[in-house]
Amino acid sequence: MDRVSTPEPQVETLVDLNAIAHNVRILAEHAGDAAVMVVVKADGYNHGAVEVAKAALAAGARELGVTTVPEAVKLRAAGITAPILCWLNTSDTDYASAVEADIEIAVSSVAHLEAVAAAARQVGKTATVSLKVDTGLNRNGVAPTEYAQVLDLLARLVAEETVRFRAIFSHLAHADLPSSPSIDMQRDRFLEAIATAKQAGLEPELVHLANSAAALTRPDLAFDMVRPGIAVYGLSPVPEISDYGLRPAMTFRARVALVKRVAAGEGVSYGHEWIADRDTTVALIPAGYADGVPRTLGGRFDVWLGGARRPNIGRICMDQFVVDLGENDAGVREGDTAILFGGEPGAPHPQEWADTLGTIHYEVVCSPHGRAVRNHIGGDR
Ligand SMILES: *Cc1c(COP(=O)(O)O)cnc(C)c1O
Repeated sequence: MDRVSTPEPQVETLVDLNAIAHNVRILAEHAGDAAVMVVVKADGYNHGAVEVAKAALAAGARELGVTTVPEAVKLRAAGITAPILCWLNTSDTDYASAVEADIEIAVSSVAHLEAVAAAARQVGKTATVSLKVDTGLNRNGVAPTEYAQVLDLLARLVAEETVRFRAIFSHLAHADLPSSPSIDMQRDRFLEAIATAKQAGLEPELVHLANSAAALTRPDLAFDMVRPGIAVYGLSPVPEISDYGLRPAMTFRARVALVKRVAAGEGVSYGHEWIADRDTTVALIPAGYADGVPRTLGGRFDVWLGGARRPNIGRICMDQFVVDLGENDAGVREGDTAILFGGEPGAPHPQEWADTLGTIHYEVVCSPHGRAVRNHIGGDR
């Protein structure tokens, strides 16, 4: 463990790489013969892209996916040699650095493809390109109206060996709603896009479509590879159906900064929104909205501390909040660890924050920042 020599941080996200490995194995089982590309965009959903990538590859993942070229180059610089795809590019993206680092580039337009070709010629090396096709998400990906032109240019670039054509892929709009008819509609459009490319003489080495939700609920859409993100981190994309045995990898925790008595009738925190109706003991937790504890959660969440749920009382401040220990304070003392969310039995699950806040757990695990120090345990590192 790399934490031994450093003092315990006040606020910490602790990421369990054994949980990442466990989740990758579950996804690989669902994928059958298809390979697993682990999505580590947004710094591995705020879990640490490099550490997660290494743990996932060691557990059997074949490839990595990110949004931008700099994210991909950073993985290469960390010594990762597995295929890496990046898919949110623009005409002025630094494609030369991607070509030099052997990063697979997804293109969404003729302009993108032209820029990639220019970079390949400049570097003097073949660029690896995949087609992101828009099958109905209407976000990035080649629009149907531009597809023929993109194929035409791609065929020329492949013929002159400026480009190696790797894959066709697309992204689903409603995968988390397995009964949505849009999923089959997107599948049909995807198959059509593949057939059109083949008619243009472009044979992809592989095709892929499924995110976490589709990887777990629609094995028929696994094609050659699945592209899970959130499930790798242990959060079910369809929690109302199942947790699939996934283990949340992130624990958000903080060390109690102070324990004190508060007399009946006293108000706690700004605005005195909570007033003690009895003498009680409270604990001060040194994490606030500057660290990723949303102020709108105030009075609506618990921490796991001293073997029990302890409710937040009063407003969440920039860097601290208070919990009520009540009469059964379990001897909680300064320095004890409070879990804000995590996978431990009894501790709040990120889904609880999501339900209270009216958001999704993806956003919850992306929240910790500021003074929250990220550490990793487990894994083959
Ligand atoms: C984010 C993303 C994924 C992973 O989605 P999850 O819902 O986290 O599994 C897969 N493919 C693309 C193109 C993405 O942008």
